[in-house]
Amino acid sequence: MKEYDVVIVGGGIHGAGVLQAAVAAGHSALLIERFGLASGTSSRSSKLIHGGLRYLESGQFALVRESLRERAIHLRIAAELVELKPFFIPVYRDTRRRPWQLKLGLWMYALLGGFDAATRFGAVPQREWASLDGLKTQGLEAVIRYHDAQTDDAVLTRAVVQSALSLGAELAMPATFIRATLTDAGVRIGYGQGDAKLECSARVLVNAAGPWASHVAQAITPPISIPAVDLVQGAHIVVPFAVTAGIYYVESPDDGRAVFVMPWQGATMIGTTETPYRGEPDRVHPLPEEEEYLLAVARHYFPALQHLTREHITQRFAGLRVLPAASQVAFDRSRETIYSTDRDPNPRVLGIYGGKLTGWRAAAAHVLRRIGPSLAAKPRRAATDQMILRRAT
Ligand SMILES: Cc1cc2nc3c(=O)[nH]c(=O)nc-3n(C[C@H](O)[C@H](O)[C@H](O)COP(=O)(O)OP(=O)(O)OC[C@H]3O[C@@H](n4cnc5c(N)ncnc54)[C@H](O)[C@@H]3O)c2cc1C
Repeated sequence: MKEYDVVIVGGGIHGAGVLQAAVAAGHSALLIERFGLASGTSSRSSKLIHGGLRYLESGQFALVRESLRERAIHLRIAAELVELKPFFIPVYRDTRRRPWQLKLGLWMYALLGGFDAATRFGAVPQREWASLDGLKTQGLEAVIRYHDAQTDDAVLTRAVVQSALSLGAELAMPATFIRATLTDAGVRIGYGQGDAKLECSARVLVNAAGPWASHVAQAITPPISIPAVDLVQGAHIVVPFAVTAGIYYVESPDDGRAVFVMPWQGATMIGTTETPYRGEPDRVHPLPEEEEYLLAVARHYFPALQHLTREHITQRFAGLRVLPAASQVAFDRSRETIYSTDRDPNPRVLGIYGGKLTGWRAAAAHVLRRIGPSLAAKPRRAATDQMILRRAT
């Protein structure tokens, strides 16, 4: 039976990040992924590497500061994959957030981002409004411009795995985690690859199965505690209309939630929704009412798109957020990542619940700190904030 220091279940951005961090710290590591890299949530996000301006409203300052730091790291180590883009927030007579509130928020954003060049912001002069992709100008009072970054989430995930493989990490894919048994020395893991039933052992099992993490945790014996989480669906649609000036951050005319209208592969992507989800994670898909909600945003802000119907949608996808169980609406809930272990110190299992695409590297560093006491110290091979990420071939 093959022995590893760390075995990871799930080839989304978190599994990729932990794989990279483990081998960079000198450990042996195997990633088990059921379908393909980024086949789950990590190809269905809004594809933003961002501080999360709106999290300031719910007082999540530490999260915003960390995310802005990670954004700056991405712009340095993943320049080929992550691009800084102008973001526009149009303010109309009836927009809930007033220009002074937005400017105050953006000043906080700049402060938390250390006032680096990417945190500059200001109002777009009225004479330039005509260059904003046909944005509705009736009742328009101001357009605030700031900057955040956009990526291709699946390409980024594959690039992180590729960098881990270059340091000796191993990948079992397609391969399905079946069960794990906790032992005195660590964990014994059973997984299936094709018709073969395989076993390996690890000092630590990292459960990075995203919305499937509770399923994976339930297959561990003896049973471990599983955090109470809710799944909240978020849908995106792509329509054949080219937004080119930047990313529009608008309020839904329906309920005032923030929605992005973004350039995406020569077309426009609109998202996202927040719909409580109770089904099997495998079955998540955009609902007709979510598509109508997103189309209403496009029609409201871009008068030339009055004709848009669901028939015009060229791509649609939905992903699941993993949020702490609570009675609040999803929009206001903490976006902090939850880390759950079977015991502390010396965990044999660590589960990652929730989190952000933007924060994968910081999350992986946190995981390595938590599981460090269970692993023998090894000579470090690389520092993850220095490893250049390139499009995987
Ligand atoms: C709608 C939406 C928009 C978002 N937008 C953004 C954004 O713009 N910016 C941002 O920073 N964050 C964003 N996020 C958050 C971010 O996308 C997620 O936090 C992140 O992608 C989660 O990655 P993960 O690796 O934890 O899970 P996943 O990507 O879901 O990966 C889990 C993997 O586990 C695999 N798996 C499951 N069970 C098994 C098994 N038994 N055996 C083997 N493999 C298994 C699955 O196949 C899957 O590939 C968004 C999230 C959503 C839902």
